Amino acid sequence: MVKQSPRKWVYLFTEGSASMRDLLGGKGAGVAEMTKAGLPVPPGFTITTEACNAYYEAGKQFPPGMWEQALAALRIVEQQTGKTFGDRHNPLLVSVRSGAKFSMPGMMDTVLNLGLNDETVQGLVEQTGDERFAYDAYRRFIQMFSKIVLDADPREFEQKLDEYKERTGASSDAELPASALKELVAEFKQIAERQSGQPFPTDVYEQLKRAIEAVFASWNNKRAIDYRNFNKIPHNLGTAVNVQSMVFGNMGNDSGTGVAFTRNPSTGEKELYGEYLLNAQGEDVVAGIRTPSKISRLKEELPQVYEQFQEIARRLERHYRDMQDMEFTVERGRLYMLQTRSGKRSARAAVKIAVDMVEEGLISEEEAIRRSDPTQIYQLLLPRFDEEAKARAHKEGRFLARGLNASPGAAAGKAVFDADRAEELGKAGVPVVLVRPETSPDDVHGMLVSKGILTARGGATSHAAVVARGLGLPCVAGCEGIRVYEEEKLFRVVGSDVVIREGDEISIDGDTGEVFAGVIPTVEPDFEKETELQKLLSWADRIRKLGVWANADYPRDAQRAVTFGAEGIGLCRTEHMFMEQERLPIVQKMILAKTPEERQAALDQLLPFQRSDFIGIFETMVNPRTGECYPVVIRLIDPPLHEFLPNYEELLVEVTRLEATGADPEALKEKKALLDAVAAMREMNPMLGLRGCRLGLLFPEITIMQTRAILEAALEVAQKTGKKPQVKIMIPLVGHVNELREVRRQLEAVAKEVTAEAGSAVEYKFGTMIELPRAALTADQIATVADFFSFGTNDLTQTTFGFSRDDAEGKFLMKYVDGLDAPGLPEKVKILPVNPFQTIDRDGVGQLVRMAAEKGRAANPQIELGICGEHGGDPSSIEFFHEVGLDYVSCSPFRVPVARLAAAQAALSKSEKDK
Ligand code: ADP
Ligand code: MG
Ligand code: MG
Repeated sequence: MVKQSPRKWVYLFTEGSASMRDLLGGKGAGVAEMTKAGLPVPPGFTITTEACNAYYEAGKQFPPGMWEQALAALRIVEQQTGKTFGDRHNPLLVSVRSGAKFSMPGMMDTVLNLGLNDETVQGLVEQTGDERFAYDAYRRFIQMFSKIVLDADPREFEQKLDEYKERTGASSDAELPASALKELVAEFKQIAERQSGQPFPTDVYEQLKRAIEAVFASWNNKRAIDYRNFNKIPHNLGTAVNVQSMVFGNMGNDSGTGVAFTRNPSTGEKELYGEYLLNAQGEDVVAGIRTPSKISRLKEELPQVYEQFQEIARRLERHYRDMQDMEFTVERGRLYMLQTRSGKRSARAAVKIAVDMVEEGLISEEEAIRRSDPTQIYQLLLPRFDEEAKARAHKEGRFLARGLNASPGAAAGKAVFDADRAEELGKAGVPVVLVRPETSPDDVHGMLVSKGILTARGGATSHAAVVARGLGLPCVAGCEGIRVYEEEKLFRVVGSDVVIREGDEISIDGDTGEVFAGVIPTVEPDFEKETELQKLLSWADRIRKLGVWANADYPRDAQRAVTFGAEGIGLCRTEHMFMEQERLPIVQKMILAKTPEERQAALDQLLPFQRSDFIGIFETMVNPRTGECYPVVIRLIDPPLHEFLPNYEELLVEVTRLEATGADPEALKEKKALLDAVAAMREMNPMLGLRGCRLGLLFPEITIMQTRAILEAALEVAQKTGKKPQVKIMIPLVGHVNELREVRRQLEAVAKEVTAEAGSAVEYKFGTMIELPRAALTADQIATVADFFSFGTNDLTQTTFGFSRDDAEGKFLMKYVDGLDAPGLPEKVKILPVNPFQTIDRDGVGQLVRMAAEKGRAANPQIELGICGEHGGDPSSIEFFHEVGLDYVSCSPFRVPVARLAAAQAALSKSEKDK
């Protein structure tokens, strides 16, 4: 029988590399790669993530061979350092560091100086001739080991330390004399023994074993599990353990420790950015015990070290071709690198760094695009607080509390505590911030008109957060520093006597979660001035195959869309145009008309309004570079007519009141007639009722008027400017080819009439939305009478799932996504991975899109295919539409840059897959 050699559980830093992240964790792979590159890294080894998993599988036992391999690796580290673990004259000390594949705050802290006991500490004194240093290292070790491995309460150690500082008059740890530190070591040991109920381990091998176990155990502590749940990191990755020989930053003023980024992580500026402390160890820099110095000061304090560090930073960046976040220690003038990883950065910095790196020749344009995050781009385009004004607000003590940064952007306005009031004020043009304990679907009407949302409870997936992100509204959620009293219409700031009442102004920062009293002015980002972003997007435009159009109903939105780079309008809704104050009464007259003549008279009044709306849009939709017109898809009236009429219940109350008070009989008669008409139009399921093309079939005058207005507008613009508007008339909610055929027949006739009258022609096309399953299933038939399809994926999702969006999102859909309590199971059960109204359901709704696209193209090869649902601005959905081979996506103007980037990423990842 062949003897199976045991698995390899342990890798020396000299054996690993950056590509072994899964096995060695991020930290282990980083130090191995730096070692390989010849950078000064203290020698050490990594116990693999597989060992961690095997440890759990074996019921918390080291897997066979692991400990022996670790000891063998330790022997090699002894040779590399010339020191011996546990030796009383020349002891090797190590750090034990956790390190999973993804950096995870909430996991084990690092144990430094492991290998010290009453004997080896003497060796350290001999070696360094510095008793103070040796006992400082020892007391730190006991403190850390107790806290991390023995699970002792760290406060008692800190109190003791403070006591000693006070007694000796030392202003910082670094000033404690050796004699005090010696006593402290004895005291610390006693505390540790009392708290843990066991003697403090003096055997250095036992120390090592237990520290390794503690790292493994930390993978499954509650904080770590919560963190993984929140960030969707799988639970079966395991953590690696790094055992590394110590270097000391606390050996005097030619020693120190620090952290630095290769570029500024908030602005992206190309400069070393970080902090350090002289004569300090480990996490002293971030612990806030002493105030660290800016990294640039190191140039004066230790010029050679600074120069070397700068050089290493440059090399690491070139090597990884990305901005690095580094940790280092200086021991008696010698620099050691302890960690490197890709640095976290703001949205602004991300774009700048990517573009700069292309220009420096470090990465390709494709890579810059691949690395960029479309959602971050969206953040860059939202209004934000003027930084100086915000700093002033802090200085003036107007900062109130901090919650979760649940949806980006900045908002200021009057605090309002209920949705109805928010709606009232918001509609009157007053900027309001809706403040709620938490929100529910009943609040949505108020959220719609608010500038921002603030809630005291709820997390990043709470109703408030989800809805706000969907609406592009800034939101601070789960702000536990405030108490909201709905009834009294006020909130109190916890721990102070500040009270904010209805009508008081507040400001919220959705990027940081900060809440302030008073108004902080916001600045609209100026897209024209975002030169780096413009550059990145221009590269994206060269790569992407999908066109990016926008949904815009007004010239103002259309203008914004063009500025953001839209190449057409994929959806211009006409019903908003009916809602405006001066027009609504005419629209109502039109709807309630008893004879075709009455109806026609009202429509004749509406025509000039509609025509001027369309003129505005056509004039705006011009390619700024070529001067040519962009295509504009105008959708004919779509919603059920009763949306334009007064509410039935309110009317009923009104009529009853008039009857009871015996008021003016004329007024009563009029109201009654209105009530009858509204009652006649009531539907049980308006979304499935008389709407879309059905309206045009029953009341052809309406769509005929709209078509006339559209074409007259196009003709006028053509005449005025000499340009050629590209008119696309879209007929909504078609389920049967005969519907489209008949509407189109009528409208073609009008179009011929209008162009004949004008004596000149404009180009126009007729198409339809594919938003009903039956339309998708019979797309081949429909395509014979359509010049284009636009997938209305909002309605298509509603009708395919049988979800009424308005009800579903509030009542059960979010539970489907977040998880439902499942009797008999320990964990919640998720029915859907994501909200299908946000990200297209590829398996269901997506199949209908794919099928309709294929059938449509087969029956009519000229057909143009686009999508105008909200999915048009969602990166994952865009990837799918690219794969299906649509011609363009259309999304809200603010999402146009997002879609340009996402479409390029889709093109890149597809070409990758095709390789
Ligand atoms: P974290 O993941 O929390 O950053 P690390 O394992 O990186 O934890 O350790 C934190 C700090 O401890 C390091 O930044 C470094 O200052 C110090 N440290 C870790 N290992 C060593 C070592 N071998 N020698 C000196 N300092 C070390
Ligand atoms: Mg670190
Ligand atoms: Mg629709």
